[in-house]
Amino acid sequence: MEQIEKNSKEGENKDRASWIAHDSIKRLVDALYVEHRTDLDDIPNIICIFRAKALFSAGKVTIASIKKVSEKENLIHSYYDGHEDIDYVLEIAADIWPGLNAIQKEAVLMHELQHIDQTMKNDDIKWGLRKHQIEEFASVLNRYGLYMSDIKEFVVETKGAEDLRPRPRVERPHVKVVNEA
Ligand SMILES: [Zn+2]
Repeated sequence: MEQIEKNSKEGENKDRASWIAHDSIKRLVDALYVEHRTDLDDIPNIICIFRAKALFSAGKVTIASIKKVSEKENLIHSYYDGHEDIDYVLEIAADIWPGLNAIQKEAVLMHELQHIDQTMKNDDIKWGLRKHQIEEFASVLNRYGLYMSDIKEFVVETKGAEDLRPRPRVERPHVKVVNEA
């Protein structure tokens, strides 16, 4: 889940869900997945929908989130002709998305794609979700340093980001072709 800070009363938007399908985002998401999740053998069917108004939680606004579609949901959808199994739904806040620049948009989509997980069960692909690599507070690291191996590994992996310059690849983000209408 990708979140940014925003002052808001929690739960104030519970009844504001209204949804918009967006095919061009799906093509971008698929392209990013193929390029960056080469650690996985198969390609899931990801559909992308826009939520008219962002959800808030603990004072933060959720820009995007990814959810797995259950067997039960796919069975229900299978009553309609031509329905293919859907593995994931990527939800994006339509009221936040246009305000992000191209690099931020690509990073948000990349973040959500990193949650995708795949295991094999009896020769069948099982799609799942994986958690963030670390969950931590800056104040704890400031006081105690890299006190656990997962935190150390995370910091080593992100060493290239310390100058805060966009990586060369990101200077030509896929997302610049998105029609934000
Ligand atoms: Zn996340």
